[in-house]
Amino acid sequence: MPYAHPIAIAPEADVFIAGGGPAGLACAIALARKGHRVLVADGMKPPIDKACGEGLMPDTLAALRNLGIDLPALVEAESARILGIRFIDTADGTTVQARFPGHAGEGRGVKRKTLHQLLLDRAIELGVVFSWETVVRGLTGQGSDHTTVETNRGSFHASYVVGADGHQSRIRSAAGLDRARITAQRVGLRQHFAIAPWTEFVEVYWSDRGQAYVTPVSATEICVAFVAHTKFAAGVPEALAHFPQLAARLEGAQPSDAPRGAITYSRKLHRVTKGNVALLGDASGSVDAVTGEGLSLAFRQALSLADAIQAGDLAAYQRSHLHMRRRPHLMASTMLLLDSSPLLRTCSIDLLARIPWLFAKLLEIHIGNAGFSPRDRRPVLKPAHPSSVSTPVPRNAVP
Ligand SMILES: Cc1cc2nc3c(=O)[nH]c(=O)nc-3n(C[C@H](O)[C@H](O)[C@H](O)COP(=O)(O)OP(=O)(O)OC[C@H]3O[C@@H](n4cnc5c(N)ncnc54)[C@H](O)[C@@H]3O)c2cc1C
Repeated sequence: MPYAHPIAIAPEADVFIAGGGPAGLACAIALARKGHRVLVADGMKPPIDKACGEGLMPDTLAALRNLGIDLPALVEAESARILGIRFIDTADGTTVQARFPGHAGEGRGVKRKTLHQLLLDRAIELGVVFSWETVVRGLTGQGSDHTTVETNRGSFHASYVVGADGHQSRIRSAAGLDRARITAQRVGLRQHFAIAPWTEFVEVYWSDRGQAYVTPVSATEICVAFVAHTKFAAGVPEALAHFPQLAARLEGAQPSDAPRGAITYSRKLHRVTKGNVALLGDASGSVDAVTGEGLSLAFRQALSLADAIQAGDLAAYQRSHLHMRRRPHLMASTMLLLDSSPLLRTCSIDLLARIPWLFAKLLEIHIGNAGFSPRDRRPVLKPAHPSSVSTPVPRNAVP
């Protein structure tokens, strides 16, 4: 059932979730599985699309499994498997790649609308109530036992309010949780192409103008996401001109939809809870898009928030949120450092191409499957398990 119509207004719920994107839906599912009455309101109507690289890393699929969703089994034909990550330096064509470690499993490329529909179907099955085209405007009556949410369709009352309403969160500002440190703000542009994927790796092309990353999303389609500090004024053709090896791959391939843009932030909030209000997903801070970690973080936060609400202890969520964001932010800083210095980038990709186990180890850390203590921030750099190290790709060759 694709579209639940707006409901009659002023219902009571245990939990009101502002924002029915991936984070809001994941939280609704986690809470409904625990028996809570959940109401989700979103200003748009489903299935909701968004500019995204559409790559789900193994840790993202693991978080979905913890929500009771076996994504590869449910959308096998409408998705594509991902075996690892490949970096390509457009300056000289140097290439390095690594597979995900065997114990972590595969990743999956899936179009954003497909993912949204899947999460929505599951939430509806579990009895979650939806109010679409419902724009949250603010909070009133923030009491100890309930809060009132004001929307264009009237008032909602709930014991807990979750702000999963994205980067410009109204709930965040209404709750006075806007205090944050933004370390990067970049522009993303997504385009699907009707072409059979030429690889089962996510390819990240690095140039002086940012990154282009390519994710297979089905047997006949790929997703390309460009991320840069400034907008590509002339759109996808201008963006592609900065990535000649990718442009060569795509010669003759037709775009399969309209391009879509979005802003990506590296943002850390001072706090993500106040009283009985909690923030989730991009509303609660985010990492740069090129990390491919946004959805994983959102799903893991959703599970943790549902546990905290069940226990009546939002302070536990505040603590685990802080813990969960450390590794992705460290990885985002590293990738943004490579973005900012062509010399460092070329030397680093060159070095990784010469020591493939090191790239495999970094990938293992990136997906949260390796010895890494966020407390002392020292990754344990021992050679990765042989199953994750790929045969080195010849230098100066696009595989
Ligand atoms: C270019 C780009 C590429 C990316 N690539 C990847 C990737 O490959 N892998 C990955 O894991 N992550 C990626 N990300 C990050 C990922 O897309 C986000 O982290 C993810 O969308 C966060 O989900 P969310 O539900 O928190 O926010 P959103 O998806 O933004 O959802 C927020 C929802 O809230 C609703 N809303 C907003 N304001 C209101 C309001 N006032 N009232 C009611 N509803 C409201 C919106 O309509 C929307 O449905 C990428 C991001 C960008 C920009």
